[in-house]
Amino acid sequence: MAELAPILIAGGGIGGLALSLALAGRGCRSIVLEARHEFAAEGAGIQLGPNGVRALQHLGVADTLHPKAGEPEALEVRDGGTSRLLATLPLGRWIADRHGAPYWAVHRGDLHAALLTAAGKQSAVSLRTGFAVTDLADEGSGVEIASATGDRVAGRALVGADGLWSGVRSTICPAIAPQFVGSTATRTVIPAADAGRLAFPSVGLWLSPGANIVHYPVRGGTEVAVVVIAVEAWEGRDWAAEADRTALMGRVGGFHASLIEPLAGARSWRKWALHRLAPLPRWSAGRITLLGDAAHPMLPHLAQGGVLALEDAVVLADCLEHHPGEEATAFLAYERQRRERAARVQAASRRNGRVYQMGPAFAWARNAALRLVPGARLMSGYDWLYGWRFDATR
Ligand SMILES: Cc1cc2nc3c(=O)[nH]c(=O)nc-3n(C[C@H](O)[C@H](O)[C@H](O)COP(=O)(O)OP(=O)(O)OC[C@H]3O[C@@H](n4cnc5c(N)ncnc54)[C@H](O)[C@@H]3O)c2cc1C
Repeated sequence: MAELAPILIAGGGIGGLALSLALAGRGCRSIVLEARHEFAAEGAGIQLGPNGVRALQHLGVADTLHPKAGEPEALEVRDGGTSRLLATLPLGRWIADRHGAPYWAVHRGDLHAALLTAAGKQSAVSLRTGFAVTDLADEGSGVEIASATGDRVAGRALVGADGLWSGVRSTICPAIAPQFVGSTATRTVIPAADAGRLAFPSVGLWLSPGANIVHYPVRGGTEVAVVVIAVEAWEGRDWAAEADRTALMGRVGGFHASLIEPLAGARSWRKWALHRLAPLPRWSAGRITLLGDAAHPMLPHLAQGGVLALEDAVVLADCLEHHPGEEATAFLAYERQRRERAARVQAASRRNGRVYQMGPAFAWARNAALRLVPGARLMSGYDWLYGWRFDATR
């Protein structure tokens, strides 16, 4: 039997690389085409719930990443202004026992590097940089894509893993574009030695009207990643725009000194504008489909953007394996398994954002409820999220 042509993957971020690995694990060839001139390891922290770690185990990269992962013991929720502890939701052993995989916090660069190194070792994966997909055509029996410089590549199907501003998505759902939500996320990483009380092996979530701050250990606990999410009218498309430190400190002025003081020494703050996209009417058209942020960008309030891209990758590769040579059918099967879950996570992330940044009147009721309900009960409300197993969704 003739060997099948490769699957083309537009975008070598977390989702695109994960898909190339999932396909290689099934003996399926792929070409990853990344617009940038090198596979970049930008970013700060990224939390990986048990559902994400389970996907990494499936992809064979969990063992490589493990030494660099922080394993937070709990999620501590605090009132931003007073630093009063509102709730302690168990992570650590509790969540690992509950879902059969741990909860990790890693540097985004470490996650990306682990995926890239593993993909680079696979003979079934070709990695190509400096190829910005600008044109594509579904020829019926295959797909041909072209780059900004006029290079052309053919394959049997195309997966758009090209992120929030996906060009592939605009060919499937032309009238739909992300909308700015009026907030930015500004991130940094500080050495644990300078982090004061933030160096605890927990995820910290501090709530305040119009802003919330999250921190957690990365790089095996030697560094602490910090993200400030606050109302700000800046809607640039850059993932790593330099943030004005003085303006940022002004926006977090209402937070307790024990949180702000360790942040004062942080050298570099980078920000990106938060956008939302309503669930798409479809992810696929013929031999073309979408994955990760291209299909369902996430607000960061549930820390699931990268994780859902990992889940997508595993499910999509599984569908292609179960429908050999029938890519359009495989893509519809993949969509059926993923769309409802992705929409649910998108909605839950938005809801969390509203709850985290409530104004003073509602914040009082929220804080009272958080203090009353046991943390384990609050966390078990996320069993539907963290308990995901790809083989149970077929
Ligand atoms: C640089 C960067 C930093 C981030 N930092 C954080 C962070 O610190 N914390 C956090 O929680 N989330 C962060 N995110 C978001 C989070 O990582 C995403 O939810 C997750 O990465 C989704 O993965 P993805 O593969 O779908 O998209 P992305 O990770 O966005 O990857 C998309 C890839 O496609 C490439 N691309 C775009 N257009 C084209 C094209 N036309 N042709 C070919 N390639 C193309 C991009 O260069 C990029 O490499 C970051 C994203 C990026 C890109």
